[in-house]
Amino acid sequence: MTETLQEKGVDVRERVLEEFVAVLNIIEPENAAYGNGLFAPRGDSYPYPVKKEDIDYGYCKTYLARCGPRSGRTISFSINKSWFSVKYPENRLRVYIHELTHLKHYGQNGSAHSPRFWQDVAFHTMVALDRWDEIADVFDLAVDPDEFKNHVTNDPVGNTTDGRSQTPAEASEVLEEYLEDYNTGVA
Ligand SMILES: [Zn+2]
Repeated sequence: MTETLQEKGVDVRERVLEEFVAVLNIIEPENAAYGNGLFAPRGDSYPYPVKKEDIDYGYCKTYLARCGPRSGRTISFSINKSWFSVKYPENRLRVYIHELTHLKHYGQNGSAHSPRFWQDVAFHTMVALDRWDEIADVFDLAVDPDEFKNHVTNDPVGNTTDGRSQTPAEASEVLEEYLEDYNTGVA
């Protein structure tokens, strides 16, 4: 049965970090600190697997979560703990996929949420669906792929689209097109 972390009675801060690191290691997103030579030689890819110690972990209030590249092996990640404690796994997974995409697309809101950002969210969602047995393991098997896809396609909102080249509805449409016929292959 699908449960919130509050219902499960686990340490939310610790559990969210474990989930995020596990999902990162399944998706293996590009990291701008490596690929564009910001902190590492150009063309270097980020060395997976990520360990919990590689995460500069904190709290945030105005956003559900924030994530970005840092120098060395460090990844910055912060969460709104009260949001994460009452949300179901499919919704938490939607936020992990969004946030880990910011390792490649980071910066001010406008540039961070470009149409390319949402294309990569779709791509990362497809990787998650391809490797659904591993994703399900992270959430104790209680996670529904259709519910997850639903959360992903509803993810774009006013402050997470650039508003000039793409509206939230347009970003949702792109996600829907990529994902509507894309399934886990699990019957
Ligand atoms: Zn974002």
